[in-house]
Formats: sequence, structure tokens, C-alpha cells
Amino acid sequence: MLKCSGEIDGGAEMLPLVSIFPSIDGEVNSAGQGTLSTFIRLAGCNLRCWGGRCDTPQGLSVTKNTPWMTVDAVVARVVAFAGRKATVTGGEPLLYLGKGLETLLRALGERGMRISVETNGSIVPPVELGRFVECWIVDHKCPSTGETAGMVPLGRMTAVLRATDYIKFVVADAEDYAFAKDIALRCGRVPGGPRIAFSPKADDMPPAELAESIIRDRLHNVQFNLQIHKTVWPAGEGADQAVDGYL
Ligand code: SF4
Repeated sequence: MLKCSGEIDGGAEMLPLVSIFPSIDGEVNSAGQGTLSTFIRLAGCNLRCWGGRCDTPQGLSVTKNTPWMTVDAVVARVVAFAGRKATVTGGEPLLYLGKGLETLLRALGERGMRISVETNGSIVPPVELGRFVECWIVDHKCPSTGETAGMVPLGRMTAVLRATDYIKFVVADAEDYAFAKDIALRCGRVPGGPRIAFSPKADDMPPAELAESIIRDRLHNVQFNLQIHKTVWPAGEGADQAVDGYL
């Protein structure tokens, strides 16, 4: 709830942070790839894709060295960047439902920020938070991750997603592509439903191979997603800036 001073009532709610940093949003989102955004990366994930060898290992676990910040402090940090968009990511942000995430999203939404949340497909995004979250990006796991059993059935997921939202498949190999293609062909593009994106897994799937497969198979309802930040900063510059030292 907003206080008269304009501060939010984050109370004692605290969130474990990996980083808060301004960058360009390099992946599909309703504001468009390349939009300036302030990233809030929360620590902790309930999955272990590719045996834990995922592309955000810094977000996997909350450790004794993980800085915890009050929701007020997170919002202040985001506001200081004077951005108009925020991307909440992880780890898995929805692990913090009931533990401060709603307060954070509400506070940013009430400040007029466009918000996208990247989530891993194992938890259904709460419909009521759609008031503040413009775009849910649901990363539905493909077979190579070893985590398909943990996915919310797509029928349940698509029932709550909107036309501004995405279901994304990170494709590492031919089996992943066949898996994602089968879903894309069966789902089609339901009017008012979420968009579908395929993203090549870095170092495993050549982007041209995936793009050519989508063209060959006439997957007209699929959007090709390249992580443009990895092209801009191949050595990782411009990526996470640790919040250590800020607290
Ligand atoms: S869901 Fe994301 S952060 Fe969690 S293990 Fe998979 S790729 Fe890594």
C-alpha cells in the first residue's frame, strides 16, 4: 500500500537478490526486444535445468552470501535508475509469492512502470497480478533440460495467459525442436492467447539452424527469439551487476 510520503509499505518483507541493473531487454517481451529495462534478478530456483548447468547459475540458490533487501530498498534502487520498464527474473521469481513479490510488483506498477516477469513454467502466474504485470514470459522446459516433469500442463498455463504474454521454448537439439514444434502445431495461435517463441540455446543450437527449421516447417505462429544482449556483450559485460556492497 502506498504511504502518504509516496514510500511503499514493504514492511519487513525481504527478497534475496542476485543483482539489480539497467540494461536492454534482450529477449521477447511485450514492450519489444531492445527496450531499456531495469533487471531485478532474484536468487533461488526450484529447477536444475541441464543438471544445474544453466545460463544463470548465479540465480540457482540462496546462499549465506546472498544479499537480502527489503522491498522498499529494491524499489528505491529501481526508481533511482529512472527507468520506465522493469524485468523481474531469476532464478524463479514466483517462489516469492506471498513473500514480498506481490508488494514489489504492485509498487512498481503503481509507479507506472511496464513490468515483465520471466518464469520457468513450474508455477502458474496469479491472474490478479496481471493488473501490474504487462507480460509473463513462461519458459516451458524442453526435454534436454531434464525438467519437463515439473512443468504446469500447458492447458492450465494457457488458460491464464494473455495476448501480451509469451510461452518460450529454449531449443538445444533436434529432440527439443520436435517437442516444441509439436506443441506449436497443436496449439496454433488462440485468439487472445499467449504468443509462442523459440530461442536457440547458446553454444548448443546454431541460430541459423533453428531459424531455418521454423521457416521450413512454416511455423507461422512462432516468433524466433535471439538473446540480443549476448550478441551485444558476448563476454558478459552489461549483464548482472552484483548488489553486494549496496547493502
Ligand atoms: S529455471 Fe532458469 S534459473 Fe532455474 S535451473 Fe532452469 S534455466 Fe536455471
